[in-house]
Amino acid sequence: DAHSAVNWNKAPCRFCGTGCHVQVGVQDGKVFAVAGDKNAEVNKGLLCVKGYHVGSALYGKDRLTKPLLRRGDRYQEISWNTAINVIADRIESAPERFAFYGSGQWTIPEGYAAQKFMKGGLSNNHLDPNARLCMASAVTGFLATYGVDEPAGCYDDLDACDVLIMWGNNPAEMHPVLFSRVIDRRSRGEKITLIDIGTRRTRTTQECQHYLEMVGHGDMAIANGIAHLLIKNKTYDQKFVDSFCNFKSPEDENPTLHGKPITFEEYKKLLEPYTPEKVEELSGVPADQIRMLADLFGNSKLKITSLWCMGMNQHTRGTAINSMVHGVHLLSGHFGKPGDAPTSLTGQPSACGTVREVGTLCHTLPGGRLIENAEHRAQSEELWNLPEGRINPVPGAHTVAMWDKFCTPSDEGGDIDTIWVQVTNPGQTLPHLNKLFNPLEDRKRLKDKFLIVSDVYPTATTRLADLILPSAMWVEKNGVFGNSERRTQQWFKMIDPPGDARDDCWQTIAVAHRLHERRVEGMKDRDGEFLFNVKDDSGESIPIWEWEHYYDVNVDEHLFNEYREFSFMKHKNLAPYSEYVKARGLRWPVVQQGDQWQETKFRFSEEFDPFVEEGKGIQFYHSSTHDDRAQIWFHPWVPPAEVPNEEYPFMLTTGRVLEHWHSGSMTRRIPELSRAMPGAYLEIHPDDAEGLHLNNGDIALVESRRGSLNIPVWINGRAACPPGTVFIPFFDETILVNDLTLDAFDPFSKQPDYKKSAVKISRA
Ligand code: SF4
Repeated sequence: DAHSAVNWNKAPCRFCGTGCHVQVGVQDGKVFAVAGDKNAEVNKGLLCVKGYHVGSALYGKDRLTKPLLRRGDRYQEISWNTAINVIADRIESAPERFAFYGSGQWTIPEGYAAQKFMKGGLSNNHLDPNARLCMASAVTGFLATYGVDEPAGCYDDLDACDVLIMWGNNPAEMHPVLFSRVIDRRSRGEKITLIDIGTRRTRTTQECQHYLEMVGHGDMAIANGIAHLLIKNKTYDQKFVDSFCNFKSPEDENPTLHGKPITFEEYKKLLEPYTPEKVEELSGVPADQIRMLADLFGNSKLKITSLWCMGMNQHTRGTAINSMVHGVHLLSGHFGKPGDAPTSLTGQPSACGTVREVGTLCHTLPGGRLIENAEHRAQSEELWNLPEGRINPVPGAHTVAMWDKFCTPSDEGGDIDTIWVQVTNPGQTLPHLNKLFNPLEDRKRLKDKFLIVSDVYPTATTRLADLILPSAMWVEKNGVFGNSERRTQQWFKMIDPPGDARDDCWQTIAVAHRLHERRVEGMKDRDGEFLFNVKDDSGESIPIWEWEHYYDVNVDEHLFNEYREFSFMKHKNLAPYSEYVKARGLRWPVVQQGDQWQETKFRFSEEFDPFVEEGKGIQFYHSSTHDDRAQIWFHPWVPPAEVPNEEYPFMLTTGRVLEHWHSGSMTRRIPELSRAMPGAYLEIHPDDAEGLHLNNGDIALVESRRGSLNIPVWINGRAACPPGTVFIPFFDETILVNDLTLDAFDPFSKQPDYKKSAVKISRA
């Protein structure tokens, strides 16, 4: 046999936030096969259709392999040296007008390098990730409730719960292996009640005993309706509430995440209008089904897990509805035991690890630190060995603001001129593209703007880029991801990237190094050393920017272990890198017990969490009220930012499909997945289609106040929209649904609502 032996090694799947473990088989320098990892806790040997084909994502015919610089209408191949000079020139000429747009697909070291370069080096906080668009409201919901971000529970809750409630969530397609864990319990004869609360039927609905169909923002009324009945029926958990909770409502003016303290009696009074009948009127869900939910939450013998993802996060009241679902769990005492948990999922493989933990949002620093907090800045400067005051105290531009500034001429106040995009595709995934991305087509108007894009394939974003950089992906580089259940997973580089492709961490540090060579002051630490160099025990400087070193398992002085120091600041303790090399992921906080490193499944519960003081039972040790209590919030129901009217009579909702991952730039290049789901479609109810004289396959013209598109009709789609609602997936770069969507966002999380845009439809 002329072939070398197949070499198998571990890695997390490249796609969704479930974080399945795959075994990757490499032969002759190529990924030869992938298999589910039988020893893995997350997926127990299973993968979904995307996971089984993840290896093929590396081998699309049009991989980017050379840096490309735009010259008029053409691109010219250039060297890395020239590319790095071009970026350094742009930054050096106007460092405060430069922004970095990253991703929940960045590895932890990649995000950490960008973070340190921008906030620690350039004193520039214009760093924000695409995760702003998918889970920022979950962050603010956790902060408002517990004073600290990220779920208390984990996937083990799915194995233990009696009732699983999915709030605007379709895990059967978005987190399929996780959902199969639940369905598998049923096939073993275990009793579990599945409830789907949503605006359209999905493949998840097909497995559920109860489907509660609501209108947009109905979730706010439903949560209030449950809380109202729990109190009215005296089925709330008074002991839990008295021991561990406070009550809050928004301040009357200038609301903040701290809110206004209210008494239990005031909370009760605020909920009084939310009778089951009133909730039915606001949400469209029958009053009896609201009573059913309240009865379930009122039953202390049951274990209830709530799951959610984009449905609750992409919401102009995303922070509020996240807090309200936490509140229902706290009020009923369904918290802190295996199977009793409110748990948000993330769409991207490292939205938790790289965005939330590393703090790559425009207002955060690593380890749960905040830009606006002087003490947090000082702590970060200390850990980074930076001169005092280096970190800029003003938060940067969040995603929508960043792209708005970029797409506005400089002389009209658009004060961001250069954006560097890594591992994401904003030309397809930003909302309201005709405002936030497409204006870049007019370079006469936007003559000062310069777009740099690092990616693996040409995309809707590289289409308008001035400089395109070829990136390495997945097992072409070392990496660490953090999944939805606080699990940190490491893998090693297994194959070489094609051509001149380089990983994003190297790209960032190479630009920083070039600025350092040009004596840009910010690239130096207190000792005059380059920002990314570290000293070993003998005081010798290690050139960490050379990519062989920055996470070499044989040296301790590398980027991951440097970042790890931040994790101790808010009880998000990580283990040393070498422990992740051995493990198939560990859920933080990870603490040392003897010579073992112990992960934590359930936080805030004395039985499981090493940071809960003895005898406390439950302790919310990051409480924003400093009394170890969580906050139960009242928020009033409010309508969506845009509702259908006579001119725009349909509510458009957008989302994903099983076969494609986000903007489809990888999965559309996998022939099996592309054949299974070749293009976007308009899912529409049969009565609406008939009224519009549309049949399956006809081309419809869909128009919103912001744009229009032509799209084939699929009556009922995979499951079914109710009359008046239509659905379009966003994976297809030839049919950009975000030409239609709204850029209205939640006031706290700044996360836009992609789920509720009013449209009109006609035959094209
Ligand atoms: Fe990959 Fe997600 Fe599928 Fe698991 S469920 S194989 S992580 S895409």
